[in-house]
Amino acid sequence: MAKLALLSVSDKDGIVDFAAQLTKRGFKVISTGGTLKAIQDGGVEATAVEDITGFPEMLDGRVKTLHPRVHAGILAKRDNPDHMAQLADNHIDPIDLICVNLYPFKETIQKDGVSDEEAIENIDIGGPSMLRAAAKNYHDVTVITDKADYNDFLDKFDDGSADESYRRGLAAKVFRQTAAYDALIAKYLTTEEFPEKLTMTFEKVEDMRYGENSHQKAAYYKDPIPEPYSLANAEQLHGKALSYNNTRDADAALRIIADFTDKPTVVALKHMNPCGIGVSDSLLSAWQLTFDADPISIFGGIIALNRKVDLATAEKMHALFLEIIIAPDYDDDAYAVLAKKKNLRILKLNFAPMKKQRQDSVSLMGGLLLQDSDTTHETYDQFKVVSKAQPTEAQLKALQFGQTVVKHVKSNAIVVTSDHQTLGVGAGQMNRIDSVKIAVDKAKDKPDFADAILASDAFFPMDDSVEFAAQNGIKAIVEPGGSIKDKDSIAKADEYGIALVFSGVRHFKH
Ligand code: 5GP
Repeated sequence: MAKLALLSVSDKDGIVDFAAQLTKRGFKVISTGGTLKAIQDGGVEATAVEDITGFPEMLDGRVKTLHPRVHAGILAKRDNPDHMAQLADNHIDPIDLICVNLYPFKETIQKDGVSDEEAIENIDIGGPSMLRAAAKNYHDVTVITDKADYNDFLDKFDDGSADESYRRGLAAKVFRQTAAYDALIAKYLTTEEFPEKLTMTFEKVEDMRYGENSHQKAAYYKDPIPEPYSLANAEQLHGKALSYNNTRDADAALRIIADFTDKPTVVALKHMNPCGIGVSDSLLSAWQLTFDADPISIFGGIIALNRKVDLATAEKMHALFLEIIIAPDYDDDAYAVLAKKKNLRILKLNFAPMKKQRQDSVSLMGGLLLQDSDTTHETYDQFKVVSKAQPTEAQLKALQFGQTVVKHVKSNAIVVTSDHQTLGVGAGQMNRIDSVKIAVDKAKDKPDFADAILASDAFFPMDDSVEFAAQNGIKAIVEPGGSIKDKDSIAKADEYGIALVFSGVRHFKH
């Protein structure tokens, strides 16, 4: 008896040839409506699934293969005499190979203005049922869901290596595929922000050379439908592949620069923290401010620019060793200069607005934490002055700039800034006063230090930070407030006659 192969695919690419090759190898091909037509039009013989089931396709294709003659044919254990006797009693032939790819649910929901009705009609029912049945019975049945496997299967069939362990691999692939397919449907239908079961699915972009260190293996996965403003949508124009650390840093740089849209801005980032941010009327002067903010740390940095890169800015960047440059676009001559460096990774990304409603996750041993992304953005009219000294208009603008920057610095985070440039960044210290000291120390020799402000990502637990800042020339400070010792910090600000304002919003970033 000929072996039976049931082919039912939405993506018909390559299916005629595969059917022909199966026929050559002694398979009898069975198929559903559209697939059958494609195969027969391609000149290959095939039988309609209706001829097997004795039932027509029904309900606009909702029921095609959902029939015991199909599913018993797939699920019967060939080494179980009872199963085989039952098949024989019911005149059911075993099906040896299933080739199915599913209704294009993902492509459908990505279409502009797609209706719920269309989306739901693209939830495949019979396809996953056959895939899962065949994958469960991989001991006896070959299941193919990826067209990349058509030729691989044929080669293995020919050389005799299409054995049980190969079929087990195909079965695992099927369950990954159906799980991912269902995860996307679940996401589409789910309205809860934190549902009781979290169904995430990601698609592999690539294996990476290594992870955070060379002894760690790593791979990069992206959301099946990444938001427009995300690294997953960036186009790499030039340079070496991004490393694991590059990828995280580039993501961090994109998050920062998304908060600066009004004027040309340049962000320089190292190890997840900004080492310089400059805002100006031209990209070139924004670059210069960023560079001057910390000319040492920028070496080997990740640079994000929010305007098309011009030649003058490119020449400045070319003079330096940088890891990555990301911008919305590049003038031809600017690109030519940057591309002279063989390894420099040059990325282009359409700087669409970042989604406000986003979530971020971090992995734990044995779990995962999920939270809303920190996308709030305070303006100085939200600040509350708590000191006797009132901040000047210029100081308020600088405080707003500092508040925007400090959100992106690892806690404990302190930044000293003007209203358009970071002057000192104190990141990731285990006590706040150490971060204050680092930030002030880096800032104090800068030309703009006389007008500098200090911003803190969280409240001061005691008055030492205000005191140190004031003693070292800081004239205005923004912090969230909320400590039981707020009054000590306020008293210290008043003692030194400097302005202290509360933002009311904490921006921890651990
Ligand atoms: P065709 O183009 O051959 O008419 O349909 C192929 C598609 O139908 C495949 O994507 C397959 O997964 C799907 N399919 C096969 N059987 C059934 C069924 O009984 N119900 C539904 N909803 N889809 C099916």
